[in-house]
Amino acid sequence: MTCFITLVNARAQDYKKLHFNSILCDTHNDIISTCLEKGYSFDQDLTGKTHSDLNRMFKAGVDVQVFSIWCDGTQTNPYAFANREIDTLYAWIKRNPDKMMLVKNSNELMQAVRQHKLASMIGVEGGHMMENDLNKLDSLYARGTRYMTLTWNNNTDWATSAKYETDSAQSSRKGLTAFGKQVVQHMNKIGMLVDVSHIGVQTFWDVIHTTTKPVLASHSSVYAICPVPRNLKDDQIKAIAKNGGVIQINFYSGFLDSTFDAKEKAFAVRHKTEKDSLMRAGKNEFFADNALFTKYADEVTNMRAPFQLVIDHIDYIAKLVGVDHVGLGSDFDGISFPPQQLDDVTAYPLITKALIEKGYSKTDVEKILGGNFIRVLKANEVGLGN
Ligand SMILES: [Zn+2]
Repeated sequence: MTCFITLVNARAQDYKKLHFNSILCDTHNDIISTCLEKGYSFDQDLTGKTHSDLNRMFKAGVDVQVFSIWCDGTQTNPYAFANREIDTLYAWIKRNPDKMMLVKNSNELMQAVRQHKLASMIGVEGGHMMENDLNKLDSLYARGTRYMTLTWNNNTDWATSAKYETDSAQSSRKGLTAFGKQVVQHMNKIGMLVDVSHIGVQTFWDVIHTTTKPVLASHSSVYAICPVPRNLKDDQIKAIAKNGGVIQINFYSGFLDSTFDAKEKAFAVRHKTEKDSLMRAGKNEFFADNALFTKYADEVTNMRAPFQLVIDHIDYIAKLVGVDHVGLGSDFDGISFPPQQLDDVTAYPLITKALIEKGYSKTDVEKILGGNFIRVLKANEVGLGN
């Protein structure tokens, strides 16, 4: 018995050591949009208000964060809005030169890690922000953007989204247009990762047949475990592996847990009268929902996916195509329902612990936490100094 306890304690120490010595790359966090919307700043203590802030990133052992640049399809000047979000990140970095560093390639990434600064990268979530203009795409690249999600939930003029392809199953318009293929080729040429999260199945296959570089799914999970249109089916996962790419698991309970949708609908039915009165009083739907999620926090906690499902999604991909093609793209601060125990970024070491308990080796854990993403980043680089 004593031996067993000693062994468990030794393992507990091991997981922390391995976690904090590994390079942890999270490829999707929406804290910029959250801060702009709520008037917060990433370098404040936002504990209890958000999933992440600068100091909690260090506590979590996050070394590399790709910050999502996002606006929805109704934004009238999406390119200008994207630049405003990039300005926000630049301001945070400028105010915290000893803690943050803008990173545009794998060399700079390693430099930031050695200097114990948060390697801060930029990913544009939604092709509508380049406004059908390759010059604007070049400008986004010049400011540091290293991936672009071809669509968000809305279509672009040149690519259809998962949401659209599912909602409009009969539509003849699906996939990439000729210009869409040009966008992918241009991204390959300049060294910007093509992000296949959010895109429709037809767009996905058009990308796979067009790209000459490994692709990224910055925040997507497994369809076979949780069949929602945003998740990736087995044949897509296999195609990404064949292409040398990587799938970064999204922590949203609705993408992890196949029972979540029914629970969320039941919550909406239970609180419909109250929501209606909040909306009559002037709250929009998003804030009405949020007010109810806060008021009925206990119910919300019970709706959240079991923590183990995050590990199940990782394990599914590792078993299907190998451990080289899976990583982490939390979607923290872009999701209302993270899994149980993963209340905020500081819970990140639990993932390392669970992977070790599942039998993953040190090398495997290092690949999942960040090594696989760094490999794909390097494979897309067109030369030093980019
Ligand atoms: Zn997203």
